[in-house]
Amino acid sequence: MRILYACSEAVPFAKTGGLGDVMGALPAALEAAGHEVSLVLPLYRSAWGSGVALAPTGLRVAVPVGGRSMEAEVWRAAIPGTRSGTCWLVRNDALYDREGLYGEEGGDYADNCLRFVFLSRAVLEVARALGLAPQVVHAHDWQTALVPVYLKTIYRDDPGLGGAGTVLTIHNLAFQGVFWHLDWGLLGLDWSHYNWQELEFYQRICLLKGGIVHADRITTVSPSYAREILTPRFGFSLDGVLRDRAHLLSGILNGIDDATWDPSRDPHLAARFDRDRLDGKARCREALRRELDLPSRPDIPLLSLVGRLTDQKGIDLLLEGFDGLVQTGAQVVVLGTGYPEFERALAERAERHPRQVRVLLGFDEPRAHRIEAGSDIFLMPSRFEPCGLNQLYSMRYGTVPVVHATGGLRDTVVPATPDTLRAGTATGFAFEEPRAEAFLEALGQALAAWSDRRLWRRLVRAGMDRDSSWRQSAAAYQALYGQVSRPNGHPPGAPGP
Ligand code: ADP
Repeated sequence: MRILYACSEAVPFAKTGGLGDVMGALPAALEAAGHEVSLVLPLYRSAWGSGVALAPTGLRVAVPVGGRSMEAEVWRAAIPGTRSGTCWLVRNDALYDREGLYGEEGGDYADNCLRFVFLSRAVLEVARALGLAPQVVHAHDWQTALVPVYLKTIYRDDPGLGGAGTVLTIHNLAFQGVFWHLDWGLLGLDWSHYNWQELEFYQRICLLKGGIVHADRITTVSPSYAREILTPRFGFSLDGVLRDRAHLLSGILNGIDDATWDPSRDPHLAARFDRDRLDGKARCREALRRELDLPSRPDIPLLSLVGRLTDQKGIDLLLEGFDGLVQTGAQVVVLGTGYPEFERALAERAERHPRQVRVLLGFDEPRAHRIEAGSDIFLMPSRFEPCGLNQLYSMRYGTVPVVHATGGLRDTVVPATPDTLRAGTATGFAFEEPRAEAFLEALGQALAAWSDRRLWRRLVRAGMDRDSSWRQSAAAYQALYGQVSRPNGHPPGAPGP
């Protein structure tokens, strides 16, 4: 199959979170399964520092937006990890040559509607100009949710694009691309689509809703999250729309890029290790303590949290339970950025406990690797978690996760119970209710298990043995693409790629 991916971030060109990681790995996994893959992405400022060569194609494509024509200059780069996969980078410096991807200093860019309407339209105009003739187009999140809408409307009869199967993946339903109705003109769609069954959402425009309504298949990133988003508690007011489309919705777990996240080869670490050579992990722990200027205390565990400091990630639960956490005597390191009030509160906790707690405010990928490798227990009290990658990285790095049993955390961590411990299948600890006491109780169980060296080793190894590669998920996507794919062959009139 010829598969075209449309997204707003992909490692190594641009990343703010899990979406970037997924898009850096999924196309390569599908190529490995025998398919032709390409990807369209904005050329953000961060792409210049990706370490991958970017080359101009000389192609300039006119993209109709809001009744005028805007220019997309097409650049190309190899998709890392593929033989022939190409990333087509859409350059428009006025829109994308900025410090952030979606905003700066906690605020969104005011012209995000324009930026991502342009991207969605550019995906299709660039695909047409290059003659890509995809059989399946796979869009991701609200930023490219208009792609399936356009394919079913404006491009329906296009010889190279019309009839392509469309898949929309929701990586996080909390982000929906909602804009005021005065932006409607930008979309280039007839007003008749501005209705409650398509793109209108409480008198505003909801790009994600348009994608949900028009895509041939909708996926999200774990089976549990696929069920949860059909309920008001997790549905962010789109649960009704999703229930109408539930027969087209499925959950496919994310894999991880197991070349980048491999403790036996990771260049960021002080020492390498694997399930049979865990002494390297002990060295990483000592190195991390030195790096953080924390006392070297092999008799106490090191706990960590890496992620966005937002309510989604349960940072309020962490703060509420912080005194209890400190009373356990464990050392704690937090790396992240997010809500200013959470950043402040965490920094203040670190100041209060200088020999026990470190809070690092910032986005630092190498450091995230060193924290995953050097800590004993990883904390993930997320209130909701579509899939979550950090628990997967943790398990691979022999760091036992303590998680709220929700979404992908429920689907990937096997909680310790008498049965799973006996069977040797347990890989972490989980709590059911998002409350600080429940979180601390699960943490207490983890700390008790940590003091039993043999038991702990079994937990660590069971996590390290988990197959979190893309192989299984790629097979699931392939099956899904097969259901919607347009027949092979370039349609008459379409130029070859
Ligand atoms: P989400 O996409 O909801 O933010 P995920 O767990 O799916 O959460 O993915 C988060 C990704 O972003 C992981 O690769 C994680 O290591 C990374 N990450 C998040 N915050 C930071 C940070 N402050 N520094 C380095 N990496 C971070």
